[in-house]
Amino acid sequence: MVNIILIGPPGAGKGTNAKQISNFYSIPHISTGDMFREAIKNQTPLGNLAKTYIDKGLYVPDEVTINLVKERLSCDDCKNGYLLDGFPRTLAQAEALSIIGKELNRPITHVLDIIVSEDVLINRITGRLVCKKCGAPYHIDNHKPKVEGICDLCGGELVKRVDDNADTLIERLKQYHMQTEPLINYYKNLNLVYSIDGNQELSAVFNQIKSILGEIK
Ligand code: ADP
Ligand code: ADP
Ligand code: ZN
Repeated sequence: MVNIILIGPPGAGKGTNAKQISNFYSIPHISTGDMFREAIKNQTPLGNLAKTYIDKGLYVPDEVTINLVKERLSCDDCKNGYLLDGFPRTLAQAEALSIIGKELNRPITHVLDIIVSEDVLINRITGRLVCKKCGAPYHIDNHKPKVEGICDLCGGELVKRVDDNADTLIERLKQYHMQTEPLINYYKNLNLVYSIDGNQELSAVFNQIKSILGEIK
């Protein structure tokens, strides 16, 4: 059984690889970013709250985010493994996750740390398009859909994320360095971290991930 966390700065390739890992290992892909965007689209109280933070490049408060993930990990489809994309992002979230994992008997088995240089991230974020319907990420140069503007997976419309602009990205990178990067040491102390070279082309990154997870399928 694999219970995976994907850590990496905005644009590292978490969402892209999460889709592939989730298909290959048949485990649910749990993206807090996608969950917030869905709530924003539906204008729920959670969505309205999250939007005020996301549009500024800030993190949504821990309490809200932790409750959302706790509920999701309790679902039956997580019993044979799960993949967390973009959670935890703070030490408080990591500590809460450790308690949730124990309570549910679903502890984290792998932390994949996707490392990408900062100049590459800017190009990835400013060229990113996402599917309005299923959240799958594409790129105007690096990962074009088969039909322009249309998602290969579900036929949904491809759009730019509101927070994918140069100004917000600066704040998001700052938050990442301040709040999320320290988690890598937290998990290194637990011997759970595997470093992934996210600068490589898409298929090479996924091959490296498979070589790490492969043995335990
Ligand atoms: P990216 O793909 O750029 O890494 P995500 O789609 O994962 O971004 O998340 C988008 C935004 O949603 C984040 O910038 C943040 O505001 C919010 N968010 C997502 N996950 C979390 C989390 N675990 N804690 C706090 N805020 C989060
Ligand atoms: P994250 O979820 O970490 O923010 P995404 O998976 O959404 O990152 O990827 C960010 C952008 O970079 C997307 O436009 C995606 O198509 C592109 N991308 C992802 N991985 C690679 C890669 N290895 N090489 C080139 N482009 C990539
Ligand atoms: Zn789609």
